[in-house]
Amino acid sequence: MSLKRQPRKPLATLPAMIPTPFDPSALPWLNRYAALGRPFAHHQPGQALPDPRWVTTSDAAAAELGWPADWWTQPGALAAFSAGAAWPGMQTAATVYSGHQFGVWAGQLGDGRALLLGEVDGPNGPRELQLKGSGMTPYSRRADGRAVLRSSIREFLCSEAMHALGIPTTRALALVASNLPVRRETVETASVVTRTAPSFLRFGHFEHFCHHVRDGDFSALRQLADFVIDHHYPHCRDAAQPVAALLAEVSQRTAVMVAGWQAVGFCHGVMNTDNLSVLGLTIDYGPFGFLDGFDPMHICNHSDDQGRYAYARQPQVAYWNLHALAQALVPLIDGDGDDGHVKDVLTEALSHYPDTFAHQLGQRMRAKLGLATEQDGDQALIDDLMRLMARHRVDYTLTWRLLGEHRIGAAGAAAREPVRDLFLDGEGFDAWVCRYDDRLRAEHSVDADRRVRMDVVNPKYILRNHLAELAIRQAEAGDYTEILRLHQLLARPFDEQPEHAAYAALPPEWAGSLEISCSS
Ligand code: AMP
Ligand code: MG
Repeated sequence: MSLKRQPRKPLATLPAMIPTPFDPSALPWLNRYAALGRPFAHHQPGQALPDPRWVTTSDAAAAELGWPADWWTQPGALAAFSAGAAWPGMQTAATVYSGHQFGVWAGQLGDGRALLLGEVDGPNGPRELQLKGSGMTPYSRRADGRAVLRSSIREFLCSEAMHALGIPTTRALALVASNLPVRRETVETASVVTRTAPSFLRFGHFEHFCHHVRDGDFSALRQLADFVIDHHYPHCRDAAQPVAALLAEVSQRTAVMVAGWQAVGFCHGVMNTDNLSVLGLTIDYGPFGFLDGFDPMHICNHSDDQGRYAYARQPQVAYWNLHALAQALVPLIDGDGDDGHVKDVLTEALSHYPDTFAHQLGQRMRAKLGLATEQDGDQALIDDLMRLMARHRVDYTLTWRLLGEHRIGAAGAAAREPVRDLFLDGEGFDAWVCRYDDRLRAEHSVDADRRVRMDVVNPKYILRNHLAELAIRQAEAGDYTEILRLHQLLARPFDEQPEHAAYAALPPEWAGSLEISCSS
């Protein structure tokens, strides 16, 4: 099984399919999922956001589509990206899915406030564009179909920040605000964020078509699997059991994604099966958070009373979700009437997840320590540092970044290395550093080289809750400059940006009282 993605074509050589000069009416729309129609997609227009105004757009996300940075200045762009009126060739649709929420079967969910604008071809392959907050759909249940500015800013900034961190994610193309009042705990205002991804299909799409069947007819489930294999995992078609091969690939990609989260200290917050992407992309940014002071059981979602989605539980929860996906694929496995064989096939497909995850995370953690080789005892070295970090609640991001400045043999109070100052128990840290130094000497590590390697995996800048909060407060008062600043800063999370050093500092005291819930 290969983890390699399709090689990316350089953006400089745009294929002819993107019109030059950019002309929205001549874009190569494909709309393949929407074209499946019922029961997969419900065609409908969005509900126009009144008096829309641009907050910001992502030039980098536009470039991935092959679009110029000024695409949003085209006539009709603001209407199209605020659900008012589609561009020619777009096919707007809401899709149906189900899911397990907090471990419990929740039945039908679906795009209750999202709308596929369409799927457009481009230099990096087809991309779906999806509005979030575009009004009611048949899947809105008792909610309003809207998203508040606060949560849309968080989604916009974090999607693009995660991409810059090298973690697979849906991306954010645009953010539009309005004065439309929206009631949550208080009255807020509505906004629409445009996301892009090769596909927005979730585990829950499969669960839906497994559970909603009449007379044992699983043809819709099979059609969905065929669609995903043909368009996103074509090599699985050659396997003896293509659907099992698909499950194995989704497991691999999920392991890669979660390893990326753990290494950078990202907590998703709502890892329900309807929030896990079939492509292994981080999706549905809600009450997410990055670790500040290191607590393995950190719960970023105020609504998660039991801590089901605590930081340290994420790898196991992803595995649980993969089992839910496997369960939904049972009717598609060819077992010659032997249920035991079907179970074996799916169990085998899932079985590589723990090892892949451990391998992926191990590689990332060794890189974070600046280790160039793999040796026995590395895991214990990593675990002991993490234990020390947890005991003193030291800042996760700062610890790794400052560890890059460590010089072999400079342990001890006299050396006054910045990383040592983070630990209340300096002597405990010194004892660990002695072992670290031995390990580094064993591979003839060179301080300066190691630092360069560490600085490209240990980010200096992450989207801490309090930074997002400050940008939100300004934006709610009509000033978007802090959003733009954070967007630019987080596009280069590994670079020293001395003019923004304050953004890398420890969070202020008030950050500890921020409560981020599912309300969005
Ligand atoms: P989430 O917890 O954001 O993943 O959402 C779970 C389900 O609730 C999905 O089907 C969403 O589309 C739906 N949903 C969340 N918020 C709203 C809303 N304001 N209006 C309509 N549907 C919503
Ligand atoms: Mg969701």
